[in-house]
Amino acid sequence: MSNIILSAKNLSKTYLSGQLQTPVLSAVNFELSRGEIVAIVGASGSGKSTLLHCLGALDSPTSGEVRLLEQDPFLLNETERGLLRNHQLGFVYQFHHLLPEFTAAENVAMPLLIRRMNKAAALAQAQAMLDKVGLAHRSQHKPSELSGGERQRAAIARALVTNPACVLADEPTGNLDRKNAGVVFDLMLELARDSGTGFVIVTHDTDLAARCDRALRLDFGVLS
Ligand code: ADP
Ligand code: MG
Repeated sequence: MSNIILSAKNLSKTYLSGQLQTPVLSAVNFELSRGEIVAIVGASGSGKSTLLHCLGALDSPTSGEVRLLEQDPFLLNETERGLLRNHQLGFVYQFHHLLPEFTAAENVAMPLLIRRMNKAAALAQAQAMLDKVGLAHRSQHKPSELSGGERQRAAIARALVTNPACVLADEPTGNLDRKNAGVVFDLMLELARDSGTGFVIVTHDTDLAARCDRALRLDFGVLS
């Protein structure tokens, strides 16, 4: 099996709305090895989120190819693509996207419940993951009862609870103050290295990017 878990070849994306064309990604080539942590840095509007959405098969490219574990997600039907995503990918966003009516443990268990694991087993696995992000004592709290940093830790736990091949993180610390951002970022790197999960992390912060195995720059849709 190839050591490349995620790749993009000649990936281009142009948004179309009516007559209006917005070219965003231009012939992007990218490879992520198993367990590798890659940062993508770029100005606001440079296409970072669009790239992550295409890599995560949440949005389809206009041309070019994505491969996730040697599969082309866009050749799969919706159900198969959803399964591939649920099993191989985790997502972390700038805003935690935790469900407000559920506890931290239930939120972290959600990807396991989606794949129909029984509730007790899913909650036990979620609790163990919350322990790894230092939130064992917050497992019964709702997101509104957590600090910003704690919510992002819970979101990271939710992304990793399925033991995916790769996590795609879109400005995961962008909403935290500098000190908290550094702490949460370092925790994420530590978990990535311990679990052997590959990470693609979009960040504005070149100091944080420098802590990754590799840092790339996206400039007007060109990745280098
Ligand atoms: P970044 O994450 O680097 O800030 P985005 O990928 O969100 O950049 O956006 C890149 C460009 O694509 C921006 O100019 C944005 O306005 C445009 N864009 C994003 N989503 C859409 C969309 N659904 N339709 C049209 N244009 C979009
Ligand atoms: Mg963005």
